[in-house]
Amino acid sequence: MGQEQFDTDVFVVGGGPAGLAAAIAARQQGFSVMVADSATPPIDKACGEGLMPDALLALRQLGLSVGSGEGGTFQGIKFIGPEGGVLARFPQGEGIGIRRTLLHQTLLEFASSLGVQTLWNTSVSGVQDADVRVGSGVIRTRWLIGADGQHSRVRNWAGLSAAREQAKRIGIRRHFQAAPLSDFVEIYWGAQGQVYVTPIGKKEICVALISRKKFPSFEAGIAQFPPLARHLANAQCTTRVRGSITASRRLKSVFRGRVALIGEASGSVDAITGEGLAMAFRQAIALSHALAAGDLSLYQAAHRQTSSLPSFMAQSMLLMDRSPWVRQNALRAFTRKPALFERLLSVHVGELALRDFGIPGILNLGWQILVA
Ligand SMILES: Cc1cc2nc3c(=O)[nH]c(=O)nc-3n(C[C@H](O)[C@H](O)[C@H](O)COP(=O)(O)OP(=O)(O)OC[C@H]3O[C@@H](n4cnc5c(N)ncnc54)[C@H](O)[C@@H]3O)c2cc1C
Repeated sequence: MGQEQFDTDVFVVGGGPAGLAAAIAARQQGFSVMVADSATPPIDKACGEGLMPDALLALRQLGLSVGSGEGGTFQGIKFIGPEGGVLARFPQGEGIGIRRTLLHQTLLEFASSLGVQTLWNTSVSGVQDADVRVGSGVIRTRWLIGADGQHSRVRNWAGLSAAREQAKRIGIRRHFQAAPLSDFVEIYWGAQGQVYVTPIGKKEICVALISRKKFPSFEAGIAQFPPLARHLANAQCTTRVRGSITASRRLKSVFRGRVALIGEASGSVDAITGEGLAMAFRQAIALSHALAAGDLSLYQAAHRQTSSLPSFMAQSMLLMDRSPWVRQNALRAFTRKPALFERLLSVHVGELALRDFGIPGILNLGWQILVA
């Protein structure tokens, strides 16, 4: 890149969780960093708002500690089907449910304290080589990071849109003033999709419904899950309904030249995994190392690694979503063998390697589902 003059080392398009995490990690490598977002903070988005222990670990690696004082805590995951429920505790630590706006504000305050420059209410309308069109001006950057979400325009501009897309579902969420039914994230399985309930305070819960079907209203969707509908019947809603598409998408490549993609711009797994934010935080760390080494192919390799387990888990859960037979038998098998469910959760949060769960573990799981 010779003697080229730049206004900033790193320019990040999109100041959602992935963009701010990328900015934090790049700043910690000593780069000057600017972030632009067309929205104004704190930015809200449809989300289940659960941070599992692996997400909290990645945040701590970024230098940020999110404590239980900022939200609700949960000890593991509970699956609930028509025949009953089964729960698994995290092997270590606990999860935190945190309002999306509070998470955004926390990330933003930390980024600002490190010297990240932010431009809000500012849309990026084009990119050419090192030039980024920002509002009515142009900013020259050494590295460009596309963190502009699922419908990323940076991805198109950089010619990185080639992807394998597996499934798209609709996610809607709403908050309620109600005591959590347990200190677990509860996932209700039904014929039309899943609802998951995350404690985000002592007396507040986030309820997210994910389905292939578009329901006429949030209430109509929740009515598919009678025990939950009863719990919510007299609870006061504290927010409007917010919705978003959740997609399983794997890009062929997440970088080209000096442009790299992160977060949902770089591909995604279905929201049911609850892993979107953890993946983005891990990608931010990997990307900062690749920037420091001046070699984005390192990021490509790390990105593939951070995505492979969540993709596998998403495919398994989507199979349970699509096939009533698999769903019912899996729920029965987990209820009969809770230790199996607990080991799967350990794999899910990265405490147990899939290879240590092993072929015998997978065969046992398959057998338990067959005979359930
Ligand atoms: C229903 C649902 C439930 C979910 N539940 C969970 C969960 O419990 N736990 C979890 O970890 N994950 C969950 N996820 C996934 C999680 O929400 C995403 O992984 C996360 O939002 C991705 O963050 P991001 O920064 O990549 O994208 P976004 O949050 O979408 O941010 C992209 C930003 O880019 C900005 N932008 C776009 N275009 C431009 C432009 N041209 N110029 C400037 N700015 C631009 C936008 O304004 C936006 O702020 C859920 C998702 C859904 C849909």
